[in-house]
Amino acid sequence: MDLSIVIPLLNEEESLPELSAWIEKVMQENDFTYEIIFADDGSTDDSWQVITQLRAKNKNVKGIKFQRNYGKSAALNEAFKAAQGDVVITMDADLQDSPNEIPELYKMIAADKYDLVSGWKKKRYDNKLTKNLPSKFFNGVTRKVSKIKLHDFNCGLKAYNKKVVKSIEVYGEMHRYIPVLAKWSGFKKIGEKVVEHRKRKYGITKFGWNRFINGFLDLMSITFVGKFSKRPMHFFGVWGILFFAIGMLTSLYLIVSKIIDFDYGITNRPTFYISLTAIIIGMQLFLAGYIGELISRNAPGRNFYLIEEKAGIN
Ligand code: UDP
Ligand code: MG
Repeated sequence: MDLSIVIPLLNEEESLPELSAWIEKVMQENDFTYEIIFADDGSTDDSWQVITQLRAKNKNVKGIKFQRNYGKSAALNEAFKAAQGDVVITMDADLQDSPNEIPELYKMIAADKYDLVSGWKKKRYDNKLTKNLPSKFFNGVTRKVSKIKLHDFNCGLKAYNKKVVKSIEVYGEMHRYIPVLAKWSGFKKIGEKVVEHRKRKYGITKFGWNRFINGFLDLMSITFVGKFSKRPMHFFGVWGILFFAIGMLTSLYLIVSKIIDFDYGITNRPTFYISLTAIIIGMQLFLAGYIGELISRNAPGRNFYLIEEKAGIN
């Protein structure tokens, strides 16, 4: 199978027939063998009925429905597990992404051997103040932190080599940072393509203000997990030792002062409080690192390494 088109959706009943007809048209024009996987993220409208009707007409249409709303990342994750195509393409269900981009994206993965190609909504039809500006900021920060040169990390339209979607786990709200997840898994050839973006035709946006906070926390945890999840002590231990040392040195200073001059009052000095807090913080950090180590040692999948190739070994 050439292509899996993965579409996460939440309450998008009006868009689905149009979207699926458009995709089918593009698939036929290009002679692709394909599947469309609708991942219904707990819709409360008639989205799922629409999906089953579409499937009755076209067996290439498939669907997964969550019992409740788990989020776009969860929907993508489940659909990725099910995908069979050599190239996997994700797109939003709201007709903001154009299926006409699919053939070129397919070519970039299949022929140009990209691992991942992210769409870039260069000209964007969303609210300027609440979407476009914050997203510029986020993209800038993510670019700095991840060192991946993309303009639009969170574009719903992306193409993947099948290997990529089978080796990453998209959880929390990590769908914003899939290129970063892919990079941490060792996929290096990450590119982008300017894609057409359209106004939302039906329904409303499903992401509110809290996406900024969540998005930022996710960026922190993703960098952190990527760097230190297998060795938490390397982070917490270093800071723990540093703080502990500061605490010890300052208290040593206080003790020596007291010995030299018996009238030297210890507890009314700032140094005393610095020393006290530094020791406590140091211990806390060290303990956090130690507990982190214990957890990562016993975590399932701790010996899960992605193997690219083998020679002479089964
Ligand atoms: N979506 C989803 N689960 C959610 C929120 C959104 O599956 O909890 C889907 C939504 O139906 C759409 C895509 O994710 O297909 C992008 O969402 P939306 O268009 O609301 O985001 P925006 O384009 O406004 O950033
Ligand atoms: Mg949208």
